[in-house]
Amino acid sequence: MDLLNKINFNWIKKFSYPLIIAGPCSAENKQQIFDITKELNKSYVEVLRAGIWKPRTKPGMFEGVGEKGLKWLIEAKKKFNILLAIEIATKEHVKIALKYDIDILWIGARSTCNPFTIQEISNELKDTNKIILIKNPLNLDINLWLGGVERLINNNILNIGLIHRGFTLYKNSKYRNQPCWLDVLNIKKKYPKLPILCDPSHIAGDRKYIYEISKNAINFGYDGLMIETHVNPDKALSDANQQIKPNFLTDILNKILLKKIITKSYLNDLNLYRTNILEIDENIISLLHNRLISSKNIGKIKKKYNIEIIQKEKMLELKKYYKNICEKFNIDQNFIQTIFELIHKKSIEVQI
Ligand code: PEP
Ligand code: MN
Repeated sequence: MDLLNKINFNWIKKFSYPLIIAGPCSAENKQQIFDITKELNKSYVEVLRAGIWKPRTKPGMFEGVGEKGLKWLIEAKKKFNILLAIEIATKEHVKIALKYDIDILWIGARSTCNPFTIQEISNELKDTNKIILIKNPLNLDINLWLGGVERLINNNILNIGLIHRGFTLYKNSKYRNQPCWLDVLNIKKKYPKLPILCDPSHIAGDRKYIYEISKNAINFGYDGLMIETHVNPDKALSDANQQIKPNFLTDILNKILLKKIITKSYLNDLNLYRTNILEIDENIISLLHNRLISSKNIGKIKKKYNIEIIQKEKMLELKKYYKNICEKFNIDQNFIQTIFELIHKKSIEVQI
């Protein structure tokens, strides 16, 4: 039997649709937690998120306030009657989170990349009834993600959901992380009941994209959203650019949910494929940009060492190279040839 079918899909039904988790990237101080929890629109937001231990790119950056932040969260939970969600990344984090009886625990993208980490977390959570959300790994490896889910199921952890937070693909992309909607929606196709939330904040990296990503997620049938929200986003100690004010969150949700932008399903499918094409086109342009930089550098070296710009035998080699790739993908060789003629023309232009 497929292990994933063992998941208890029903936990999500205890929440309104869509499940909205909101709150700051990081808990910073007690006042900030109280201010944001008070301001969140409770008719939408059922769960407060806040990072307590922050996985940062470089040491010396703000790495979270640690256990004392949980005391603030617990106070805020009692005062404002809201559930809590935090990230756990080690077995010590799990022990502390369980001690404070935090409602929802999520496993971050950097942890999902590492099977040892997931296994350690899973062992510590064994038999828990807590809701465990698992973010996608940084790299586009759906099996690694689902493998993480299986590691939880093997320890009888069954209240599970996925969080789609985007993938690191190419260097220059519009969003901080690329959504790769189609890849994620294939999981939903195979396991229609498996709860999947979208985290538009970490996909976007910039607050101006939160609305469009959230709208897509809801239209594509996601079960909820996790959105970073802060009373003073510009002053946030982590992820300042992508956090939004609570009233902006309400506006976004009003627009998406009340005005029923949600449309007929065939239009959503059309939109899904159109969105996928836009994602692909952006990658093509980004790769062409990188290609042209290499062409320019080749031009400099050729000039310095007096090498001919056009080398016939190199061109023939390339043609063979493209032909092989076309065969692999079963794609029309003439079509690809035509595209590369244009690319080579430009490449020669930037070498001169
Ligand atoms: C976060 O939610 O603040 C976070 C660190 O997310 P991710 O694991 O997606 O980078
Ligand atoms: Mn963050």
